[in-house]
Amino acid sequence: MDFTLTDTQKAIQKMARDFAVQEIEPVAAERDRLVNWEERMPWDLVEKASALGLRQLPYPEKYGGAGADVLTCCIAGEELAAGDLGFAVNIDQTWKLAHILDKVEPAVRDLWLERLCREPRFLTAIALTEPGAGSDHQGLFDDPSIQLNTRAERKGSGWVINGLKHYISNGPVAALYVVAARTDMRKSLREGLTGFLVPRDTPGFSIGMVHEKIGQRLSMNSELLFENMEVPGDHLILGEGKMWEIRGRLLSSGKPEAAANCVGVGRAAFEKALAHSRERVQGGKPIAEHQAVASMLADMAIGLETARTMVYRTAWAVDHQEPYDFTLGWKAKIFASEVAFECARKGVEIFGGAGIMQEAPMEKYLRDASTFLHSDGTNQVLRLRTAKAYLENRVSVF
Ligand SMILES: Cc1cc2nc3c(=O)[nH]c(=O)nc-3n(C[C@H](O)[C@H](O)[C@H](O)COP(=O)(O)OP(=O)(O)OC[C@H]3O[C@@H](n4cnc5c(N)ncnc54)[C@H](O)[C@@H]3O)c2cc1C
Repeated sequence: MDFTLTDTQKAIQKMARDFAVQEIEPVAAERDRLVNWEERMPWDLVEKASALGLRQLPYPEKYGGAGADVLTCCIAGEELAAGDLGFAVNIDQTWKLAHILDKVEPAVRDLWLERLCREPRFLTAIALTEPGAGSDHQGLFDDPSIQLNTRAERKGSGWVINGLKHYISNGPVAALYVVAARTDMRKSLREGLTGFLVPRDTPGFSIGMVHEKIGQRLSMNSELLFENMEVPGDHLILGEGKMWEIRGRLLSSGKPEAAANCVGVGRAAFEKALAHSRERVQGGKPIAEHQAVASMLADMAIGLETARTMVYRTAWAVDHQEPYDFTLGWKAKIFASEVAFECARKGVEIFGGAGIMQEAPMEKYLRDASTFLHSDGTNQVLRLRTAKAYLENRVSVF
């Protein structure tokens, strides 16, 4: 096995790291505290990421992207998240559509891929979750009674959609949405859920409440409301009842990219804790020389190294293996999110009282790292899905 990064990957990693250190990190803490989400939204950083080609990284070169594979996106995503997790989420939510926009009608594909790559503020969102269905759309439990109530009904050659989504990342700021709606309420979600491309300016579509979060505050989440919203037939993705397949495409790249973001925020907490433990003198020596502190630093480093290895392994599998072992992504996201949270928790301890003071960096990492324990599927539900896959012999440890 060869873990050497290509020259292109090294160049993208350096570009993303320089951007995070020079542009994201210096403003992130102050933005994080702004109360008004519209002031908090880092459009300036999104535009700079577009100028660098980072926002459109995985999209085909002929439209203006860089054609980057999933591993390269993970490498860049770790760096962006080390600058600010919320900002990284703005970007990697937008990367996810790279794996489905190529599957829609050519005219629709060309229109949106061209706009996505050209417009510097073009972000995308994926809308599944509703007040009555969070874990229930993750696939562990699947039954027509699930309270995912957004419905699409045929009208001529198109569709009319009614319903409400919530918690949607990039909800209030995206230009294009993938919306999951039921086209047959008698069927389970695996068979009766359909994906639609919905442009922001579609009549009948509006943004509801923008949720205030404790972490990832540079990424905005909101409700989406659909009231007799008409979507043309060619904006249906892959076909009726195919949301499960779309989800597989979105999440095969999405899971390792989310895990890479977790490694980024965990690494940032580790680096700050390492620096602090060198400088802070108590008991007559730098606290790093006290074994209890050194041991915490070592555990953080072990966790991060292991999590990154899982990210690279998963990304490589998504890039090269068809079919790929989908539990790799679940395991990487579970492990990396818990490592990130643990790094931030240990970092708070290493900072002592400063760990919970807002003038020091650690409390923000703790808040940010807490978000991925729940988003992209709760870790409990992903654990149950992982165990089920082994119990049903769909995957093997060997
Ligand atoms: C920061 C953030 C960003 C998000 N972004 C998006 C997005 O862009 N698009 C989108 O569609 N959604 C998004 N979500 C929603 C996210 O996917 C859901 O919050 C998540 O799947 C959990 O659903 P829930 O909040 O309804 O919790 P619930 O499903 O109510 O879960 C509550 C608790 O019960 C447990 N539980 C539930 N069902 C089971 C079961 N069958 N077996 C065992 N335990 C169970 C859960 O593990 C959890 O501990 C986001 C959420 C967050 C926090």
